[in-house]
Amino acid sequence: MNALSRRRFLQLLGLSSAAAAAPTLLRAQAQSVVPAATTNRVVVVGGGFAGATVAKYLRLWGGAAVDVTLVEANPSHVSCILSNLVLNNSMSLSQITFNYAALQQKYGVRIVTGKAVGIEGKALRLADGQRLDYERLVLAPGIAFLPVPGLKMNKVPHAWQAGPQTTLLQRQLAAMPAGGTFVMTIPPAPYRCPPGPYERACLVADYLKRNKPGSKVIVLDANPKIMAEEHTFSTAFNQTHAGIIEYRPGVTLNQVDSRQRIAKTSQGDVKASVLNVIPTQQAGGIVASAGLIPAGQRWAPVNPLSYESTLLPGVHIIGDAQGTGQPKSGHIANAEAKVCADAILRAFAGEAPDPAPVTNSACYSPITANTASWLTAVYAYNPNTGLMEVVPDSFGEAPAPTQGNYEKMFDWAAGLFGDTFA
Ligand SMILES: Cc1cc2nc3c(=O)[nH]c(=O)nc-3n(C[C@H](O)[C@H](O)[C@H](O)COP(=O)(O)OP(=O)(O)OC[C@H]3O[C@@H](n4cnc5c(N)ncnc54)[C@H](O)[C@@H]3O)c2cc1C
Repeated sequence: MNALSRRRFLQLLGLSSAAAAAPTLLRAQAQSVVPAATTNRVVVVGGGFAGATVAKYLRLWGGAAVDVTLVEANPSHVSCILSNLVLNNSMSLSQITFNYAALQQKYGVRIVTGKAVGIEGKALRLADGQRLDYERLVLAPGIAFLPVPGLKMNKVPHAWQAGPQTTLLQRQLAAMPAGGTFVMTIPPAPYRCPPGPYERACLVADYLKRNKPGSKVIVLDANPKIMAEEHTFSTAFNQTHAGIIEYRPGVTLNQVDSRQRIAKTSQGDVKASVLNVIPTQQAGGIVASAGLIPAGQRWAPVNPLSYESTLLPGVHIIGDAQGTGQPKSGHIANAEAKVCADAILRAFAGEAPDPAPVTNSACYSPITANTASWLTAVYAYNPNTGLMEVVPDSFGEAPAPTQGNYEKMFDWAAGLFGDTFA
């Protein structure tokens, strides 16, 4: 991010918190800071884009009629969104780290820093032995990784949950010699952020071109083809980053030699100077341990009208962990959270959920250090199939990456961050 973009991004973050205090919202907000005097208790697990949004909107819309506790393992959340820009030193982790002060102080959400480990009847159990009783539980734990034989994440980072893993990969790239090879593996879909791995390949190639002449990027994709913005990324691989990125589809990762940095695959061994393995993903740990993923599946089945588990009434699952088939993105996690908050408040009032919910996803992908593309789609509930489906003609992609898109990416991100955490 150049100095101008950074200044504008920080200004916009300020504006988005101010937007939450705009006159139209003041009544709802004033209501929400009133302490809850109710037995409508909602406990939310996970303070990412899904969990922080549902906690905020339950109080914003429900006010004193609902008591909300957010259980989050960490005191703050590091956004995966924009985290690929930390790898090429365009941004710092501190610029994409958010605490829960606004949720607590402006909306009256009770924050508990701790790890949820199980469900017992109508109570959530934490690692420190606490039990939190609830009428409704929302699980928004994001993703967990399936094991990869030989993978040691302290040597071979995934950087697919932002934080120390991002810093580790950034340092390995900075220390990589000129003429080296960056190898990344992409897991089978569905995985978190469909365009994210291809965006990373582009940004790393761009960084290496400028800082480590003669280096290469090898992308080993378990999928048969590029899974998002195919035209944009194949053009980027074959033209913008031609001679640097080598894309190999249909490659299964079997094992990793973490010490030697070798990916052992269905198409032979690939040796790396820096190896980035993004493992296969499933719903975050608490969802699996609570028995909310059927055998042989990776995501939690839910009713798309309310995000209530089809396996355990009273428990809702949103964000990357849910299995409605909607893409696993922060933008749509924020939208799902609002549908879920509305459905829970309606349930407390004895009403059925909205029969026609709509969600949307938008995503900007940087292709170089100053150009980006974008992708957007709207999803609506189809009562005939019981699924959230893309609204015809709502799907759109940038015709080509531009500098203007790169600048707009920070406006979009600041709006989403503000709507979630401020
Ligand atoms: C490199 C990259 C780039 C991306 N770019 C974009 C983008 O441009 N646009 C976009 O829309 N999306 C993007 N995404 C995807 C987006 O980050 C995820 O879809 C989003 O974070 C999902 O939100 P979530 O709330 O479901 O999970 P998370 O954001 O992972 O939040 C889950 C939270 O739950 C907490 N938690 C987990 N288990 C427990 C427990 N047992 N007890 C207590 N707390 C727990 C975790 O600490 C975490 O804070 C990107 C992802 C990556 C990796």
